[in-house]
Amino acid sequence: MAIQSLRQFCGNLFEGFVYSQELTLNEIKDFSDKSGYIFAEGEICIMTFAHCPVQVNYKCNCDTCKYKGDIFYTDKTNRKFALKRKKVYNCYWEMYNCLPLSGGKKLFKGGRYLIKPNDNDLQQVYTHYAAINASKTSDYQPKEYTTGHLSKKTN
Ligand SMILES: [Zn+2]
Repeated sequence: MAIQSLRQFCGNLFEGFVYSQELTLNEIKDFSDKSGYIFAEGEICIMTFAHCPVQVNYKCNCDTCKYKGDIFYTDKTNRKFALKRKKVYNCYWEMYNCLPLSGGKKLFKGGRYLIKPNDNDLQQVYTHYAAINASKTSDYQPKEYTTGHLSKKTN
C-alpha cells in the first residue's frame, strides 16, 4: 500500500524503489509488489552523521578543514569502518560497514538487483549477476564479505 501511495504521489517522477536493507530474501519474496530492487552487492552504509566528527573532535571549521580524505573508526575487535565525507562545506559523513555486501548463492533468477561493485570487480560482478539471471552457476565471491540480512532466516 505504501508503494502504491508513493507511485501516485510521485506520478511520472516515480522510477522505482529499493527494498530495505533490513529485509531478508524471504521477506522480500513476500512483498506483493515485485518491482523493487534488492540491494545485493556493494558497500553498506550503516550510519549517516547529523554532525561532522572532524569539526566536533578538532574544533575546526568545515570550510577550511585540512582533513579531506576518508577517516576510519576502529572498534574494540579491530574492525575498521570507513567514514566518508559526502559534502565538504558544512559537511556530513556516512559510515560504511567493515565488510561489503555480497548476495551470495541465495539470489534468484528474475530478481532485480542493485549492485554497486568497486571498480576492481566490475566485470566479475556483472558477469556473476548475468549468470544468476540466466540460471547459470558462477563461482564469483569476494574475498571478504557479508550477506547482511539477505541470508538471515525469518522468524
Ligand atoms: Zn566538517
